Amino acid sequence: SHNKQVALVTGANRGIGFELVKQLALNGFRVILTSRDQEKGHEAAQSLKHSDLDVSFVQMDIDDQVSIHQASLIVKKTFGRLDVLINNAGVYLDENELLLTMDPSILEKTMSTNFFGVYHVIRSFIPLMEKRSYGRIINISSEYGMMNEMSERGVGAYKLSKLALNALTQLIAAEIQGDIKINAVCPGWVSSDMGGPAAPRTPKQAAESILWLATIGPDGPQGGFFRDGKPIDW
Ligand code: NDP
Repeated sequence: SHNKQVALVTGANRGIGFELVKQLALNGFRVILTSRDQEKGHEAAQSLKHSDLDVSFVQMDIDDQVSIHQASLIVKKTFGRLDVLINNAGVYLDENELLLTMDPSILEKTMSTNFFGVYHVIRSFIPLMEKRSYGRIINISSEYGMMNEMSERGVGAYKLSKLALNALTQLIAAEIQGDIKINAVCPGWVSSDMGGPAAPRTPKQAAESILWLATIGPDGPQGGFFRDGKPIDW
């Protein structure tokens, strides 16, 4: 089992993240399911272990740099490597209010998780990839983060956070050395607590549309933004 590739997913106790963990494990990865809530994360990991999947739980709140650092130390000590990092954890806090008049903490909290959280997770975990000069980083973004989507009112905080995440993906791609790829992906509109029950896509379908990025070769895309395998001109 020590030659198996190791993958980590943030915000994986429910929704798309949970399904990503399941599918990675079914495809032969050793998977680290992370969650900010100890109990929920442990329970989610147990439910997959019961189906004989190679899943471990590590607590990580991406709003908390100490928590991120501690999680990276545990991963280093327990696994000694990281091959795939999926930044899935995210929040949608907008309630149809305007950036100009909303409680500014809505924007601050959204950026803290959807943007700075991802930034700090990448900084803490990329050394585990650089050691072996191999890694695949996938940032779960949204088509709400496209430049030509910026005129819609009422979703400003979320849109800004995903636009910034797409830009971060491209900027880090330009800095990376070796065979480490970083790309962003839109999962589509997905039925989850965030997407709501009317969404046409299941978390399973969303995960299937994302996971090809976990196994791209050295000539695969770098710094791109995709939906269903196709690049988005954002
Ligand atoms: P859910 O709301 O169902 O799940 C979000 C997950 O993120 C939960 O596990 C939640 O944990 C976790 N999370 C939130 N904040 C933190 C934090 N600070 N640290 C660690 N974990 C955290 O959302 P989805 O599964 O639908 O969304 C997953 C990703 O997909 C998000 O990035 C979202 O923006 C993106 N996306 C979703 C779409 C959709 O239609 N659903 C469309 C486009 C993009 P907890 O249970 O503790 O709250």
